[in-house]
Amino acid sequence: MNSDYLYDNIIVKESEVHGKGIFTSLPIKKDQRILLIEGEEIDAAECIRRENEENNVYIFWKDDNSYIDASATEKIKYINHSCNCNCYIDEDESGNLILVASKDIEAGEELTIDYGYDEIYEECSCKSCDNKLESAA
Ligand SMILES: [Zn+2]
Repeated sequence: MNSDYLYDNIIVKESEVHGKGIFTSLPIKKDQRILLIEGEEIDAAECIRRENEENNVYIFWKDDNSYIDASATEKIKYINHSCNCNCYIDEDESGNLILVASKDIEAGEELTIDYGYDEIYEECSCKSCDNKLESAA
């Protein structure tokens, strides 16, 4: 399973953004599939329980009542938030969540996504987050 996409070229290391992050050792083209997001599929209630009781911050939203707990993975769970991100989450033909490049990415760059929930914009200090908070208020 771990040979999917660019798995071997994705490296976990300390990030300037926050804690650990994931980085690519290869240049990646826009729209290229990077990683399969593997994990246990859980419903919304279980997602909330794990977040609150287990402090699990590695859960990816899939659809209305379906979430992927990626805490057992070694790479994708370390992806950081950026408002100026270079990746996004999509679904493949089989309904698996995948990480896809939203722009051309150079070797050595950190891979990031927009987490897309309000709390992150409060923690994030970039300009575009300030704008998102203002438009939501
Ligand atoms: Zn931001």
